[in-house]
Amino acid sequence: MTSLRSIAWDEPEAQQCPDCGGQRYKVSGEVDEDEQPVAVYIAYLYHHDGMHEVFLDLVVGPWEEDADPSERLTFSTRTGPVDDGSIATTLLDGGYMTSDDPMWGTKVSREDGLVHPLIPTVWRYLDSIVEEVPAIAGHLAPTPPGRPRRWWGSTTPSSAARPGRSWRRRDRRC
Ligand SMILES: [Zn+2]
Repeated sequence: MTSLRSIAWDEPEAQQCPDCGGQRYKVSGEVDEDEQPVAVYIAYLYHHDGMHEVFLDLVVGPWEEDADPSERLTFSTRTGPVDDGSIATTLLDGGYMTSDDPMWGTKVSREDGLVHPLIPTVWRYLDSIVEEVPAIAGHLAPTPPGRPRRWWGSTTPSSAARPGRSWRRRDRRC
């Protein structure tokens, strides 16, 4: 049994949302396994139309000082409410939010990601981030602990928030 731990490096940073001009928050940090960094994440917290969503780039791979960035892989996800009001995570095309900087390694498409040998690991890291980073957990789960994670602010997810992408799809329930 290994020990997985997710932390944020800083307090959430308020930014202007490039889509609507409103406010979003950026949270970045790392996932450690047995006290070694195994992934770095950048998450953006949105509340479009009262809907709480997290778009997250997860960069899996070696993160030691002298690590080779070309060995890293970027997976991206959207976590938020889906049709039935529950919260689920959907795999997106990788590197949705990150730049083309080589430090992010290779961006993995949704199609490749869903069948990628690392996808169980990606979900495991995601679970750790979503549950353990207070800013992210709090953004997604306003219900008291022990209750099923259910979204109460909105009944229908707005697929219009990101044209061309469907959030109806549910790869993983939180
Ligand atoms: Zn916005």
